[in-house]
Amino acid sequence: MHIVDKLFYLRFFAPILLIQSYFYKIQRQIHDIITDLALISTKSRELTAENDRFSAFLKSNAILGLDQKVQLLNHQISEKVDCQQCGNCCKTLMIVVSDEEANAVAKVLDQKRQQFDEQYVEKGSHGLMIMNAMPCHFLKDNSCTIYLNRFEGCREFPALHLPGFQKRIFTHLMHYERCPIIFNVIEQLKIDVHFEKDPS
Ligand code: SF4
Ligand code: SF4
Repeated sequence: MHIVDKLFYLRFFAPILLIQSYFYKIQRQIHDIITDLALISTKSRELTAENDRFSAFLKSNAILGLDQKVQLLNHQISEKVDCQQCGNCCKTLMIVVSDEEANAVAKVLDQKRQQFDEQYVEKGSHGLMIMNAMPCHFLKDNSCTIYLNRFEGCREFPALHLPGFQKRIFTHLMHYERCPIIFNVIEQLKIDVHFEKDPS
């Protein structure tokens, strides 16, 4: 593009793009976040059939920019949910522990690896290790006491920042009742993609 054309483009189109993005942000403001786990649990039971329909809807419709919509919602909703007040994933998830992670945490705790294994993990078939207690041993006052060395599953959850939401909707719906971030992202997403909710 010639420099004169570039200047023309910037002068006339840049303000339009800025205005569009401003209105997009206004439109995308999130209200009515629900964080009460008891209420989420009730709603989850009520919305089981609707969520099955939503899962089928997402699988049969290629929604343009679905991952970006989910990632933006995740960002906006995570800012409004206080994980330290909630801690529900640390209380209810089965955490997988790799060999390297076990070594790292044992070192931080100043334990021999054997002692760590006996105290904290259970070994399943195929050598898979999982934490042997729920809530997690390392949760104290709703905070993780090994935060810098927490396990990969802990770092990733609720995994809404990852691509491929359409393929993972089943997994997210499994955690819909457990995690207020997932619950609110999915409820807001239904609105954003013009999914027809069941009459309430
Ligand atoms: S290791 Fe920390 S982040 Fe992971 S489940 Fe336990 S308390 Fe939660
Ligand atoms: S990630 Fe979800 S379940 Fe875990 S503490 Fe945050 S809101 Fe609660």
